[in-house]
Amino acid sequence: MTDVKEEICRLTLEAGFCEARILSGTERFEPPASVNAGRRINSPTLLVTALPYGNDSVETPSAQAGWAVIAPFARKNYYREAIRRLQKLSQVFRSRFGGTKADYRVFCNSPLNEKLLALTCGLGMVGRNSLIITPSAGSLVVIAALTLPFPLDGDSALVGDPCRACTLCVAACPTHAVRGDGTIDRLRCIQWYASGNEDAVPSYVADKWGQTLYGCVFCQDVCPHNRRPITGAETELSLLPASIDPQKLLAMTDEEIRAFFKGSAMGLSWLKPHHIRSSTLRVLDNFTRGGVRKGDPLSPS
Ligand code: SF4
Ligand code: SF4
Repeated sequence: MTDVKEEICRLTLEAGFCEARILSGTERFEPPASVNAGRRINSPTLLVTALPYGNDSVETPSAQAGWAVIAPFARKNYYREAIRRLQKLSQVFRSRFGGTKADYRVFCNSPLNEKLLALTCGLGMVGRNSLIITPSAGSLVVIAALTLPFPLDGDSALVGDPCRACTLCVAACPTHAVRGDGTIDRLRCIQWYASGNEDAVPSYVADKWGQTLYGCVFCQDVCPHNRRPITGAETELSLLPASIDPQKLLAMTDEEIRAFFKGSAMGLSWLKPHHIRSSTLRVLDNFTRGGVRKGDPLSPS
């Protein structure tokens, strides 16, 4: 099946993904039995991919001080774009290599441990900031997988250390969440709270919130793997502005917030209107108290 594997990976890269690796022995990665059948792998092989969002489409945030900022990776819906591209690829694979429509299922932002999948098949290595760093596009990628209904030889994990002596992300994290050993203290991580994982935000995080509405990227922005030119995949799916007037957000009803973010990378079921409102209030509070951090988009330096 070597030819089939090569062809599948070639077609995947042609479709705009920057990495395409094969994972076999998928039963090791099944989510807990409590997860419903439709969200289990139940397939001998996974095609694991990375779609780059790159660093070539970053808009300058509004010059309006105190606005709530959305990180570049969340301004377009790269998750949906990855799903859309894998669904199109699955049609090609079905006609070329067989199987039914149900045999090809896409996983993206799913219960699967994407980081472990990516590590095992060599899609990338874990950096000190705990993110998967791919050889071609650093950590500026969305990871997605497609089930394949036939066995293929799995790819091996990459060997090496992507960080070596570098500790830039440890120093850049405003809340000291990056431990330096490839893990982060999520209870110190701004993005953990901005994603709606906890309602109560400790003061040592809230005080360093800065302008984040969604997407804290200090630990990615400084990474040398992300600082070379990386071309992002084209997508016009669900464009969001770089920043939003916090007063406008606070004046919105729950329904209006849902409608505003519907279909976008912030329109996820677990990110509720009250989470967005809470983040907005913290942006306002930080601005009012002059809590703009060095490195914030609108900070003096
Ligand atoms: S996302 Fe922000 S708060 Fe979290 S580890 Fe990275 S820099 Fe620190
Ligand atoms: S900034 Fe440096 S230490 Fe952190 S993930 Fe990137 S290479 Fe590793």
